[in-house]
Amino acid sequence: MKKLLVAAWSLWMISTGVRAQQPADIVLLNGKIFTADPAQPTAQALAIRGERIVAVGTTAEITKLAGPKTRRVDVQGRTITPGFNDAHNHFSPDAPGVHLAFKTMEPSWEETAQTLTAAAANAPAGTWLFGTVGAQVVLNEQVNRAALDQLVPRHPVLLRAYYGHGFIANTLALQKLNIQDQQPDPLGGYFEHTATTPPQLNGRFWEYAQWQPSRTLTAQVSDAAALTELRQLSDEAVRLGITSMQLFSQLPFERFVRLLEQAKLPIRVRAIPFSPTTPQQRDLSEVRQLPKPAAANAKVKASGMKWVLDGTPYERGAALRQPYLDRPDWKGRLNFTEAEVARMVQESVELKQQLLVHCAGDRSAEVVLQTLENNGPAASWPARRMRIEHGDGVVADLLPRAKKLGVVVVQNPMHFAEPQLFRQRWSPGMQPLGSLLAAGVPVALGSDGPLNPFLNIMMASLTPANPKEAITREQAVQAYTYGSAFAEFAEKDKGRIAVGQLADVVVLSQDIFAVPPPELPKTASLLTLIGGQVAYDAKVLK
Ligand SMILES: [Zn+2]
Repeated sequence: MKKLLVAAWSLWMISTGVRAQQPADIVLLNGKIFTADPAQPTAQALAIRGERIVAVGTTAEITKLAGPKTRRVDVQGRTITPGFNDAHNHFSPDAPGVHLAFKTMEPSWEETAQTLTAAAANAPAGTWLFGTVGAQVVLNEQVNRAALDQLVPRHPVLLRAYYGHGFIANTLALQKLNIQDQQPDPLGGYFEHTATTPPQLNGRFWEYAQWQPSRTLTAQVSDAAALTELRQLSDEAVRLGITSMQLFSQLPFERFVRLLEQAKLPIRVRAIPFSPTTPQQRDLSEVRQLPKPAAANAKVKASGMKWVLDGTPYERGAALRQPYLDRPDWKGRLNFTEAEVARMVQESVELKQQLLVHCAGDRSAEVVLQTLENNGPAASWPARRMRIEHGDGVVADLLPRAKKLGVVVVQNPMHFAEPQLFRQRWSPGMQPLGSLLAAGVPVALGSDGPLNPFLNIMMASLTPANPKEAITREQAVQAYTYGSAFAEFAEKDKGRIAVGQLADVVVLSQDIFAVPPPELPKTASLLTLIGGQVAYDAKVLK
């Protein structure tokens, strides 16, 4: 037995020795490399063989690893970083119908009504009219089923908040979505009713009441249309230097994973179940029957389970410990009881799946921390890397508890772009970023909206809603690469420019560590490599 081991070991030595002498497939030379690796934070050049990085060093050192067939890319002083990993985004393909175009993300009700009327005049009766609107429309209680019916009686209309929390439908839409007036509320969601006897649905519905209707709509999307949208998303991502995405979808999970595999995207995708609820329970079937993606296609992974514990500050749905500043009798709303949150935690342990919970408020964040503390010794939790998505409520007094439990906080810096509205809603201590890092809480970054990582890095370095929480661009890139890989248990393979890591690397159009902040969002990739393969080439570099 011992002999065999020695033989195997010496074979391995020989093979790695031979490999070390083989020339690299690609070398990137003369760069300004941010490695996200504390052991060697900067470098000039790197060598790639197969799908991995085999050397990182000076241009002189790396040049020696190039052979006659090696592709040599002189990046001429440009900035190179690990590929970005968008830790939180949504893929929800558009159902067939008319998707209204507004001038801004926050159209007024007047503009919305005019656009709806015009669209109805131009589309055959029965055509779906979809509008993505902002808080102005969604929070206007006059915008309801009756108002939409009066405006557009012959077309199903669905208005949805761009921030994902709040739907408004007219009568035809409710019918098409199979929502009856006697519809019981699903767990974690609710339908609003009129004050009439008997009460009727007023067309406004919230949180998990949105899930089944969303799935009814995605069921109408053909595979071909969904594949086209997936490819568009991936194309946009690689142009922006994103090499990994962690996605939630309103497609049934098995279909989502099948489409991801069919699409053969260059980008790596981790799909995370984002399941609906019934009036009785959360539907765990998708987590229990996680599809096993074909091993050959390691770029698609399926794991975890995500539940949404509260709303957002827009609709005052985020669950707070103190009342909203602009509504002193109201603290928001938890979608689930604390007992239900405890069940989520226990299921995640039993099913060996990472738990991701959307928490926008400090009450929801505290419930999660308390639940972990109540359900096992603190030391047992860090290995499970429980994730708080958004983490706007992981405020100062909760930081030591989050740190002790090893909770990973995923922040979406674009959410820091709403200083006026959020300041009206909640106290200035909300929306931590720098204080999370200072407390030693693992932080990942995701877009949860516009994909552009450089827009998000700009926001992370300015945090206009709470400037004290700003972090450096280096910290932001670290969180967007290594931090996001850690948040998906993948840091051994990706997130850094270091020997042995997957060659997910991006050469950028400008120095993101030096340009003035407003210039950051204009950054693009010149060359995106994923697993050593060219995923995007702007044809600027020779
Ligand atoms: Zn989200």
